[in-house]
Amino acid sequence: MKRIAIFPGSFDPITKGHENILRRALPLFDEIIIAVGKNSSKDNYFPLEQRVAWLKQVFANEPKVKIEAYTGLTINFCKKMNASYILRGLRTSADFEFEKAIAQNNKVMADEIETIFILPVPELSAINSTIVRDIIRNGGDASPFVPSGIDVKSKS
Ligand code: ADP
Repeated sequence: MKRIAIFPGSFDPITKGHENILRRALPLFDEIIIAVGKNSSKDNYFPLEQRVAWLKQVFANEPKVKIEAYTGLTINFCKKMNASYILRGLRTSADFEFEKAIAQNNKVMADEIETIFILPVPELSAINSTIVRDIIRNGGDASPFVPSGIDVKSKS
């Protein structure tokens, strides 16, 4: 059976942290679908089309990576895509508490789906999209935090 993982998130915008987690997970799976979601508790800064376009650009040379937009429960999207794994990164203890609750509740709802966590490399563990968005909004240079070739600029 093909080992398919979903890597869900807002990717608003994609950072070097996301890129690192995905590239390190690639040898573990036959296919990874980056699932760009509309998160109910977050207002997105960059439009969905832009976030998807950047992801496609970064992983253009990775045949095992697919990019899809989704809404609704991640486990339902996993079932739709025949994915048995959810991939997530764990940066902080706050991430751990949040992710633990989601993964355990997902396990109750869909026992056949496993959540797999990867720890960031230390030099990328402080990067998060919220801070990157603040830098962009305020006219700072976000290029150290996003994959090379990604031209993030403030929308206004
Ligand atoms: P969400 O909108 O669900 O918070 P994000 O787009 O922020 O999702 O991130 C998607 C996934 O990437 C999450 O599992 C998050 O923990 C992980 N991630 C984000 N930044 C980093 C980083 N710097 N190092 C490792 N994992 C990260």
